[in-house]
Amino acid sequence: METPLPVTDQMGKDDDSGNDWEMPTESVHAGEMHDASGAHIDPIHMTSTYIFEDSGAIKSWGSGESGAHVYSRVGNPNREALARKLSALEGFGMASPVYAEIFSSGMGAVSSALLGLAGSGDHIIAQSVLYGTTNHLVNEVLPKYGITTSRVPLLQGDLLVEELAANPNTKVVYIETPANPTMSVIDIASTTEIAHSHGASVVVDNTFATPVLQRPLSLGADVVVHSTTKFINGHGTVIGGALISRDPDFIENGGGALVRYIGAVPSAMDCWLTSIGLKTLPLRMREHCANARALADFLDGSEMVERTYWPGLESHPQHEIASKQMDDFGAMISIDMGDFETASRLMDGLSMCSLAVSLGNVDTLVQHPASMTHRLMSEEDRLAVGITDGMVRISVGIESAKDIIADFDRAISFAGGS
Ligand SMILES: *Cc1c(COP(=O)(O)O)cnc(C)c1O
Repeated sequence: METPLPVTDQMGKDDDSGNDWEMPTESVHAGEMHDASGAHIDPIHMTSTYIFEDSGAIKSWGSGESGAHVYSRVGNPNREALARKLSALEGFGMASPVYAEIFSSGMGAVSSALLGLAGSGDHIIAQSVLYGTTNHLVNEVLPKYGITTSRVPLLQGDLLVEELAANPNTKVVYIETPANPTMSVIDIASTTEIAHSHGASVVVDNTFATPVLQRPLSLGADVVVHSTTKFINGHGTVIGGALISRDPDFIENGGGALVRYIGAVPSAMDCWLTSIGLKTLPLRMREHCANARALADFLDGSEMVERTYWPGLESHPQHEIASKQMDDFGAMISIDMGDFETASRLMDGLSMCSLAVSLGNVDTLVQHPASMTHRLMSEEDRLAVGITDGMVRISVGIESAKDIIADFDRAISFAGGS
């Protein structure tokens, strides 16, 4: 008897559907508990189990007459509050509601999405550049369980049609856009149209864009996954993930239900921290994007930087697609410094910005994909998808743009000086 309650039936207010709030208002108000204690900020429900008043309450819960929390692997008020807030944003502007389940990591959500849609004997098609751990999941882990996988560069239309025709057992087309770390952009609407006409579902990893900049479900995609570790939490305090779908059955009994079978369950405290972070997401994304534009323009104009990859630059190969499907271009930039030594000197020349994997925090983080996030790829595979030894990835923070640029200006001079 582990049926979760529909998100809207859980304690506190429902998802406020029917209002016509703007995105910043939804971020602040959607999903908040406002429970009987009168607490202004959601209380944190650090409890593993829940008390039934008497045997009558058990009976009425068992027969489905009343909802109840039973055990925190199955449901917890903080997890549900975060699911309501995130659904309000990811389903923003859509006529019908969307549903979410929260996981203890982005990878918990990614693997549950894929295992919820595909099983032994099925096929998955993905683009060639993916987040490092997703890449490993698709290449090494899923095939062990009888799920075959293949790649189509940028999921380019003609090639995707061919690949779908060659693999009629394809259940999922998997999109990550913008993609990590090359910032390639995939056309969500046209890819979805092709996938659907071949009976495949579309999963989109929306971590880099967030629902503030891009809402794949409104473009036709079936499932959105997030690493909430990144911009959604925004403050670097939690590892977390989310799965969002238009189909309540997929959340309650399909991929979403895997949270309790695989056990990738987030703690109440982590959900609470993520909900607090999510309240300022629209505000933060405005600053992140404005700073990214200023830094991308600066880097693009620097002679020491061989290439700057940011979807907002007109020189970006998919700038037009990005302009069509995103409200702004995000805060992730990659640059190519030409070789590993110059890239290393650039990183050593930075003083304010931190050298660290992860992204989407309020402070600027810099990392080297070939030796950090994508080190598990063979050199040949890395170079084939454009992850060069000179590539440096930047997650632009919300510090003053002037100070971020000054740090890079000094670091670039240092890199060029020896
Ligand atoms: C970080 C990340 C993931 C994995 O999320 P975790 O929270 O680290 O498990 C998946 N996709 C993208 C694009 C990411 O940046």
